[in-house]
Amino acid sequence: MAAAVVLGGPAGWWRWHRRVAAMVCSRAMASKTPVGFIGLGNMGNPMAKNLLKHGYPVIAYDVFPEACKEFQDLGAQVTDSPADVAERADRIITMLPSSPNAKEVYTGANGILKKVKKGSLLIDSSTIDPAVSKELAKAVEKMGAVFMDAPVSGGVGAARAGNLTFMVGGVEQEFDAAKELLTCMGSNVVYCGAVGTGQAAKICNNMLLAISMIGTAEAMNLGIRLGLDPKLLAKILNMSSGRCWSSDTYNPVPGVMEGVPSANNYQGGFGTTLMAKDLGLAQISATNTMTPVPLGSQAHQIYRMMCAKGYALKDFSAVFQFLREEETL
Ligand code: NAD
Repeated sequence: MAAAVVLGGPAGWWRWHRRVAAMVCSRAMASKTPVGFIGLGNMGNPMAKNLLKHGYPVIAYDVFPEACKEFQDLGAQVTDSPADVAERADRIITMLPSSPNAKEVYTGANGILKKVKKGSLLIDSSTIDPAVSKELAKAVEKMGAVFMDAPVSGGVGAARAGNLTFMVGGVEQEFDAAKELLTCMGSNVVYCGAVGTGQAAKICNNMLLAISMIGTAEAMNLGIRLGLDPKLLAKILNMSSGRCWSSDTYNPVPGVMEGVPSANNYQGGFGTTLMAKDLGLAQISATNTMTPVPLGSQAHQIYRMMCAKGYALKDFSAVFQFLREEETL
């Protein structure tokens, strides 16, 4: 009913519904037409490669030219700006670090909106402020296109394996069109509600992830100090009630697991700066809704401190190393 009021009564709603259905239909008919991908970093790189593997021609752009080179070799078309991507593709996925980058890519001088085609579907998979997602959705809608937020959970390993979880916010009638692309990169694609709700789910998840990673690092460190072998302790935690993703899939202690950032001097993975950013977003949302999040607030302080002390570019599981260094000060 609210939609009917906004869109000018039942007749307006019906016209709008038919327009959206027509857009979905025309995009679906051209299902293997090029897909734009902007932001080819730790996550965007394997995600765009999975689109290529599924037979979608990719039109790529990243502000860092080195990130595009590999895609040129893989047969993707590389462009000079987000606007150029919008000129050549009517479905675009963006995977950028934070809110200011997303604003720049969508609404900047050479942004997507400069050349976006009517009816285009723009999916932002970056983790950004839900309020910014809503702002971008309005700007996109004014151009006759559709915006959905679809942040991901799962990390670089899941991005490579095409196992990401997508949390999707936006007009429900567009969900199937978005899902067609997102299932090439993820095994779970969940519709959350109106624009911004994907980001809301993502922010809650990452606040919990940071808290559980710090908890795992503290417990592992205490066990080591008490003389336990870290591999044995991890094994026990993982068969007991302390088990969590940070202990059994992404253990922060070097030597406990293979193929995770802690086995590689905390290189790659999910940067500490990005975690600090997500915890900041959680704090803003908590303040706006007057929700107490004391552990989230403490986790935010810890990750900000890590950024200030040289950990900014390391994976967020480096909190284990940070705790060890702090205790020797
Ligand atoms: P990243 O920094 O590795 O990659 C971001 C890419 O965007 C870089 O290649 C950068 O050059 C590019 N970029 C920045 N500004 C740009 C602009 N104006 N135009 C074009 N390209 C631009 O970050 P990432 O780890 O790939 O993360 C991307 C997003 O996904 C973030 O919002 C992050 O919070 C989220 N995320 C990351 C992970 C992870 O494990 N890394 C997991 C889940 C979600």
